[in-house]
Amino acid sequence: MTLLTVDDLVVEHRTPGRPAVRAVAGAGLTVSSGEVVGLVGESGCGKSTLARAVCGLVPATSGNITFQGGPVRPLGLRRRHRSLLGIQMVFQDPYSSLNPRRKIGAQIADGLAVAGDTTTTPADLLERVGLPRGFEGRHPHEFSGGQRQRIAIARALAARPALLIGDEPISALDASAQAKVATLMRELAVSSGAGLLFISHDLSVVRIIADRIAVMYLGKIVETGPTAEVWANPRHPYTKALLGAIPAADGAGHLPAELAGDVPDPADPPGGCRFHPRCPVAMDVCRAKEPDFTPVACWLHEPA
Ligand code: SF4
Ligand code: MG
Repeated sequence: MTLLTVDDLVVEHRTPGRPAVRAVAGAGLTVSSGEVVGLVGESGCGKSTLARAVCGLVPATSGNITFQGGPVRPLGLRRRHRSLLGIQMVFQDPYSSLNPRRKIGAQIADGLAVAGDTTTTPADLLERVGLPRGFEGRHPHEFSGGQRQRIAIARALAARPALLIGDEPISALDASAQAKVATLMRELAVSSGAGLLFISHDLSVVRIIADRIAVMYLGKIVETGPTAEVWANPRHPYTKALLGAIPAADGAGHLPAELAGDVPDPADPPGGCRFHPRCPVAMDVCRAKEPDFTPVACWLHEPA
């Protein structure tokens, strides 16, 4: 069952006296119950802004977001109601979601209260995320980064979300903790029937846990598909470049030549295909017209 539909979403950031920045420039994706979707792309491409719009934390400039059959509207200042939407987010830095002065058991209990769950205990949730029962009385600073992220996941799960969003939830962790935390998020989301939108710039981890991949570049989704297919046969030149940019197992990885150059300024994106200044196979049409196709937004893959 489709849980979340994002359709032609535009989110502009406006600062007085400066040009509006289209952080999300007409993006679409879906997440179904029990499905893990990996949203990948370089930093600054709009992944976090898209996630924040899905949670109602930033208003959509245009387009539609539908969650569980109803529209998502901006929440204004009453952000605590976010959890009532059935969406929980896990952030890169657990300190942004955990209160350093409160015991972790009390913080997990907050989530249980949101769900009206009177049978599960914070200790049960600690166990589910692989931490010992009996740690409820401790404070966040008594844990490692990986453990804190497990606590943040426990707190998010306590609220019984239909959709869990991880916004770079593993990028601040040690390499040894990254795959473990990512795999845990997948297991917990899928076993509870929730959808998981997992945002990362690390394709090697997304490959392990995602059923489908959406590749984002400068505010647009440029390619989507089942993870195995995209991995075996990337079609958009940007996807190919991203896959080529994955560090080799021997640590000798490097950015391939075709991904040379920086991401252009989102306040002044290139005309035509947004990737054309960095694309090794750009054609004349690419500079003139935007390829607004799905599942691959590229003139080389124009649908018949
Ligand atoms: Fe490259 Fe053209 Fe495809 Fe854009 S549309 S990715 S410039 S080939
Ligand atoms: Mg981000």
